[in-house]
Amino acid sequence: MIEIPARRGKATRLPAGQRIRIVNTYGQQVVDTWAFAAADLGEFMSMEHTRIAIGRIIPGVGDTLVTNRRRPILTLIEDTSGGIHDTLVAACDRWRYELLGCVGYHDNCTDNLAAALGELGLAPPETPSPLNLFMNIPVIDGNAIDVLPPVSTPGSHVTLRAEIDCIVALSACPQDMVPVNGAAMTPTAAHFEVVG
Ligand SMILES: [Zn+2]
Repeated sequence: MIEIPARRGKATRLPAGQRIRIVNTYGQQVVDTWAFAAADLGEFMSMEHTRIAIGRIIPGVGDTLVTNRRRPILTLIEDTSGGIHDTLVAACDRWRYELLGCVGYHDNCTDNLAAALGELGLAPPETPSPLNLFMNIPVIDGNAIDVLPPVSTPGSHVTLRAEIDCIVALSACPQDMVPVNGAAMTPTAAHFEVVG
């Protein structure tokens, strides 16, 4: 398995038909997940387009996530994490941490995406809203949202299958100012493997 170091990102090419297993190694780590069409990075997995395609806000096993051109790109085929993920919240960025009171630079998922694609010689056209694996953002009374620790457990995982040739980027979210990554607010590593 390949490590996604704590507070960092990683990306991999995922040919159509291959699967990627994303493991919440220590159980409480949110993994921001993006997918870009290999043929044109301007086409990418879109939470806005996926929610209407699947008719709900949290994808479940069997649901196919779609691009900003409404084409299938990834299908969720296995989930041992408890099934709680987020599609509502933007990737964290330097401004999110500034608003929380951070002085100076703070690692963030937006920069992690750029760095991870950079390792493949690529650059994201923008920062799409990610599939926030393991992130627990309940909707209360059909309107308000809360930020709670993940319900996932150590070693639990999600498996996604590529529907087209794509590039998958993952960020072990460095959020340590709200309990997104557990009550201890301590980001950890996660792992992934391409399982063919
Ligand atoms: Zn983040």
